[in-house]
Amino acid sequence: RAREEGRNWYQYYTQEMNAHARERLRLESSLHRALERGEFELYYQPKLEVASGRVVGFEALLRWNHPQCGRIGPGDFIPLLEETGLIHPVGRWVLWEACRQAVLWRRSGREALRMAVNISARQFMDREFIGLLEHALMETGMDPADLELELTESALMKASPETSRALEAIAALGVRIAIDDFGTGYASMEYLKRFPVRSLKIDRGFIGGIVDNPSDAAITLAILTLARSLELDLVAEGVESPEQLELLHSWGCGEVQGFLFAAPGPAVDFDSWSVKDWLCPTPPTLLH
Ligand code: C2E
Ligand code: MG
Ligand code: MG
Ligand code: MG
Repeated sequence: RAREEGRNWYQYYTQEMNAHARERLRLESSLHRALERGEFELYYQPKLEVASGRVVGFEALLRWNHPQCGRIGPGDFIPLLEETGLIHPVGRWVLWEACRQAVLWRRSGREALRMAVNISARQFMDREFIGLLEHALMETGMDPADLELELTESALMKASPETSRALEAIAALGVRIAIDDFGTGYASMEYLKRFPVRSLKIDRGFIGGIVDNPSDAAITLAILTLARSLELDLVAEGVESPEQLELLHSWGCGEVQGFLFAAPGPAVDFDSWSVKDWLCPTPPTLLH
């Protein structure tokens, strides 16, 4: 009986596995065609300066409009893009598209606004990356000072000479470097001293707990202090409530991003924001 159960479980397990593998294969083959079919889209989420409530920039976030499955978030396909190497052509498109959009918004009369693009480890360790970056800046007419690349700590984990060279080359172009999901990686903080980093983004896992969880509050405060003493800009991501915003404001956090202000949306959503909307459309209580 036990054996039978074991076998049943095994059969069930392999069926599941096969279904999973088939699903993966299906996704993988449609990913190959997604770029040429124009199924990728960039969503944008505003970043606000806490002191003024002004929108100071946007983060570009990749979406895949799958013909059958509908809109798919990056968590479900970025790992696959990385494994297959498709991250290179797709990443190049993302960089290009984000720059193009930023230049469009700039030309439509908006003041300085930074565009942030997420770059995975595989992308930025690629030897061709700097060339692609330069090319995207030149061809789109993007001011390098308006571009920010968000790298995760894991991307910087290898404090190798190549990492150092890649970061120096990015900084030499005048492009800003931000550390994304700060506090969740395993990297030694030594890189903050050695690499030309301009800002830290505190992971939303901490921000979510700052009101009720003393540990999250303590970690966030420590990161704020660290950023201040290293003269780095600090962005809190995943701000969802006015209480969180008020705390961050009282602690002197420079910039915020999150559902409290706006969820990521297609470019057209922000096209229609008039110039006065560049101020936070729903001013938090502390701005009164
Ligand atoms: P990330 O760069 O840390 O982006 C922040 C994520 O938090 C986004 O998820 C955003 O939609 C979400 N978010 C923003 N505000 C809030 C909030 O108030 N509450 C909650 N619960 N979530 C919020 P998304 O768009 O699913 O992206 C997930 C991750 O995928 C990104 O994390 C980034 O690491 C990666 N990613 C996105 N686009 C790209 C891309 O073009 N290239 C690469 N290499 N990675 C990308
Ligand atoms: Mg990011
Ligand atoms: Mg993040
Ligand atoms: Mg994240």
